[in-house]
Amino acid sequence: MDNEKGLLIVLSGPSGVGKGTVRKKIFDDPSTSYKYSISMTTREMRVGEVDGVDYFFKSKAEFEELIKQDQFIEYAEYVGNYYGTPVQYVKDTMDQGYDVFLEIEVEGAKQVRKKFPDALFIFLAPPSLDHLRERLIGRGTESDEKIQSRVKEARNEVEMMNLYDYVVVNDEVDLAKQRIQSIVEAEHLKRERIEARYRKMILEAKK
Ligand code: 5GP
Repeated sequence: MDNEKGLLIVLSGPSGVGKGTVRKKIFDDPSTSYKYSISMTTREMRVGEVDGVDYFFKSKAEFEELIKQDQFIEYAEYVGNYYGTPVQYVKDTMDQGYDVFLEIEVEGAKQVRKKFPDALFIFLAPPSLDHLRERLIGRGTESDEKIQSRVKEARNEVEMMNLYDYVVVNDEVDLAKQRIQSIVEAEHLKRERIEARYRKMILEAKK
């Protein structure tokens, strides 16, 4: 029987929310079976980073050549550098039946949504969003200006959430990790997936 295709899991969210930290926590857990898709980037390697482990580090010219060859599922420019997800690894790994995990910024996530509507989209939200209400109206001590800027920030974040299936508040890294693992587990138990598996079994049995 052919392998059942793996899930594509996309973790994204506003800059500075801690996506990288949560992702590392997930992959430090030996029980994690998903495969991390290593991105390509044109940014400088940081101390302690390893080419081919943290990223595939490329020159701008190399990256632009790969864009031309349509080698990315998505790519985005972020703070003056390119970041992108190589298409081949993701497709091959999903075909082998593994879940593939992307940790990318929001513009890239939008592109993935268009190409892989069945992927699982998880938005990592800052804890501040959770506490916003009390901060906004609770104390009555904040200046109007401060309240307005918080409202604006919150509105941006809520609008970004639009495209996602789940929202995980990153109030504590371990909790965020557990919530993400639970979401993925539940996604595998979706009736559609299980039904498809049984239908396939029945078809094979008839042969
Ligand atoms: P950093 O330079 O701190 O490693 O990453 C900067 C941002 O780029 C983070 O928000 C990270 O999630 C995002 N990022 C990493 N890889 C990719 C990718 O392949 N595509 C996109 N669109 N964003 C990425």
